[in-house]
Amino acid sequence: MQLYEHTAFELSRMLQSGEVSSVEVVRSFLERIDEVDPHLKAFITQTPVTALDTAGEIDNRRMRGEVLHPLAGVPVAVKDNISTIDLRTTCASRILEDYIPPFDATAAAAIKSAGMPILGKTNLDEFAMGSSTENSAFFPTRNPWDPELVPGGSSGGSVVAVATGMAPLALGSDTGGSIRQPASLCGVTGLRPTYGRVSRYGLIAFASSLDQIGVVSLNAVDSALLMNLIAGYDPLDSTSLPDAVPDYTAGLEPGLNGLRVGVIRYSSTKGFDPEVTETVQKAASLLEEHGAEVGEVSLSLTDYGLSAYYLIAPSEASSNLGRYDGIRYGFSADGGNIEAMFSRTRGEGFGPEVKRRIMIGTYALSAGYYDAYYLKAMKVRTLIRREYEEAFKKYDVLLGAASPTPAFKIGEKADDPLQMYLSDVCNITDSLAGVPSLAVPGGFHSSGLPLGLQLTARPLQEHLLLKTARFFEENRKQAPLRPSLDYVEGGKRQQ
Ligand code: GLN
Repeated sequence: MQLYEHTAFELSRMLQSGEVSSVEVVRSFLERIDEVDPHLKAFITQTPVTALDTAGEIDNRRMRGEVLHPLAGVPVAVKDNISTIDLRTTCASRILEDYIPPFDATAAAAIKSAGMPILGKTNLDEFAMGSSTENSAFFPTRNPWDPELVPGGSSGGSVVAVATGMAPLALGSDTGGSIRQPASLCGVTGLRPTYGRVSRYGLIAFASSLDQIGVVSLNAVDSALLMNLIAGYDPLDSTSLPDAVPDYTAGLEPGLNGLRVGVIRYSSTKGFDPEVTETVQKAASLLEEHGAEVGEVSLSLTDYGLSAYYLIAPSEASSNLGRYDGIRYGFSADGGNIEAMFSRTRGEGFGPEVKRRIMIGTYALSAGYYDAYYLKAMKVRTLIRREYEEAFKKYDVLLGAASPTPAFKIGEKADDPLQMYLSDVCNITDSLAGVPSLAVPGGFHSSGLPLGLQLTARPLQEHLLLKTARFFEENRKQAPLRPSLDYVEGGKRQQ
């Protein structure tokens, strides 16, 4: 078995026992990236030299007998909307193509201080707006199970890196499903923590009341290890939660006795693949067989949630993205006068989806339309929160699908924004409610593609999600298959 095939937990053990060095581990992942990334394009920027430097430093410190963090020496990939000091952070946008942050995001600082070598910055939909990673201004990322398909988005790069052994762990961000939906489409685990649990400081803002940094991993234990490192109060983020951080690796032992699980009945399952619904039903039966109390819960507002999200998120985006004016950050076009410079900078710097959102958001916030659109959407958001509060009076965990369909073809929805928006229907209401939510592999579609389950809990109950995810991992009938990547060996390179 190659080092890149191991989970983060296994690598951590092997590093601590001295069985392997971090330099060896990082080399293995770098070789894997060289082999696989030209086909799938998960990385915007690779940082092999600094990764090896960090690894060497950790190996030396370990040799000197220093007590290190459990993840010291375990490499990680970082989504390219998370600021990294002195390292280009593009948001997959032309407008930030050459932007080099003067500071680290709090989450990036945490992984550095633990001694985790950063392998590179991963591709995303521009400013995390999208569900397929096709909206990257640079190139689309491809699904490792079939390179003609999308990996989901917007954290497509992070998810593909973990699914293919290019990184054992990755940081992503989830505003309305951007960790969970791609995790589901590529067969890995993706956790969106409670809003405020992980600092947003240095996460380049898309929709501030929804954005959340989270974890992409191969399993629940690995998620727990990285959560232990990045969760917690941060005075630099005014929405950060002050609550103490538990040890997320505790309580992962098997046993579901008494866990109350509500299987979600969506307001509409139009557009759902029947095999997705079947996979959720099977998962529910499995939970019941193993001692969980399973019932049904109706989330009647999922359709309204989608409409509310696509007003609230663009409204916040239109305001957040006002800062890209050609003066303070990144790309600047010549214009003759200042007004022409603004409009040329923004006209050339932003891609079509970002422009669409800025226009929708500006419209929804404008005088005369504010009450009819933005305010109404905020009222729907409150109703959604209440619906969740009701559901959580009866249940500890809600179970549903992480995506209505398996992965779709590159180009299939690119020209139809409404169809693209519908791919987030399972994920968005959790985001609006601010609750933690996790995607875990649930099985395979008859086409051979992975299907994900989604688990949701009350605020700060991430440990219940991890415990339930662990249960599914241990009771999986099929082995946790990795994509075969036949096309890498002897296949042709994707352009
Ligand atoms: N796909 C959703 C959108 O386009 C969610 C994106 C995200 O979570 N960043 O807004």
